[in-house]
Amino acid sequence: MAGIVVKPRSRIFHGHDWVYSSEVHKIFGNPEPGDVISLKDFKDRKLGTGIYNPESQIVARRFSRRTQKLDTDLFIRRLERAQSLRDTMGFDDPVYRLIWSESDGLPGVIIDRYGSHFVLQTLTLAMDQRKEQITEALIKLFSPESVIERNDSPIRKAEGMELNKGLLHGAAPGKFQVTVKGVTFTVDPLDGHKTGLYLDQFDNYQAVADFAKGRRVLDCFCNEAGFSLHCALNGAQSVQAIDSSEPALECARNNAETNQVDVEFTNANVFDFLKGNEAETPPYDLIILDPPSFTRGRKNVKDAIRGYKEIHLRAMKLLEKNGILATFCCSHHVNRQMFLDTICDAAVDAKSTLRLLSSHSQRLDHPVVPTIPESEYLKGFIFQKMAAW
Ligand code: SAH
Repeated sequence: MAGIVVKPRSRIFHGHDWVYSSEVHKIFGNPEPGDVISLKDFKDRKLGTGIYNPESQIVARRFSRRTQKLDTDLFIRRLERAQSLRDTMGFDDPVYRLIWSESDGLPGVIIDRYGSHFVLQTLTLAMDQRKEQITEALIKLFSPESVIERNDSPIRKAEGMELNKGLLHGAAPGKFQVTVKGVTFTVDPLDGHKTGLYLDQFDNYQAVADFAKGRRVLDCFCNEAGFSLHCALNGAQSVQAIDSSEPALECARNNAETNQVDVEFTNANVFDFLKGNEAETPPYDLIILDPPSFTRGRKNVKDAIRGYKEIHLRAMKLLEKNGILATFCCSHHVNRQMFLDTICDAAVDAKSTLRLLSSHSQRLDHPVVPTIPESEYLKGFIFQKMAAW
């Protein structure tokens, strides 16, 4: 097997599974892009088996610490293991992320399960080349009604791949409904945001809604209205939701109707909306901020921070004393501490004192491996704005 000798002190010696091009000591045996390769240290000791793509900054990603083939059998074993782990996570409904990339031993593979419909992303070249085997494994284990490919993420460009989406197996399901913990959502796996729903946020919907009773809620960047629906169902006094995407709002309105709750939807840019609604008496008691990632790369982190600071500053001004601020950040490049620091800066400028009530992350079906920091991306905090002493 062709392979790579990894330089000493590389991240793979600290529990990571990636090999960056700057960590390659030597390549042997002429591997082709997408090949399965052997990884070795400089004393010729085996580090495991990985996938190779010289087009990417991350030239190799380990998927096993042993010598392994990357075939249908391997996919079946990984899927079985992932499913049995999900079975212990306490989900009442079969709606979850079944495979979360490195955290489930399949670098670059993401599979979301919506009952008998499966949505696949292959974000690494080697996995993309093996889409058929992955689909075969899914068919063998789950007899799905459909397997859909949502390979329209721009991340694929880093691996030199085109963007596309379509049906890999079964019949296109169109839009359909799923119910999670009694709340019903419309899923549009081919055309919706991400693979249909923000599965990573489901525990946080409830955590935020626990504070909603009797409060006037503002859900910023509502998308399909997950937070709004939960807050309304938990006895909020009123719920207002903002998004700038009409298709998202259409879906959100539909969800509100299905769940028979009253939510006022507004199509607006959150930055402008927050700026335009300053008033003598703060109009909200609970504000949710769940923006899209403001940065895709390390380069524009500064701009992203400025954006995060701005919305927090504005939100704090619209929040009644003792009001709740629930805020989330899904940017890979802004870590938990940077995010918290930014919120603190905004609080200082808004002359507000915040009390941290709880910290949040992505749901358990997006497992975090601490030695692979990239496996964690969602950070969240619930604060209470204190009355002036
Ligand atoms: N809270 C949602 C997920 C939010 S995703 C949930 O849990 O389902 C981010 C959303 O922000 C998208 O729906 C996108 O349309 C919207 N968006 C992006 N930029 C915006 C802006 N400047 N103003 C308002 N909405 C925006």
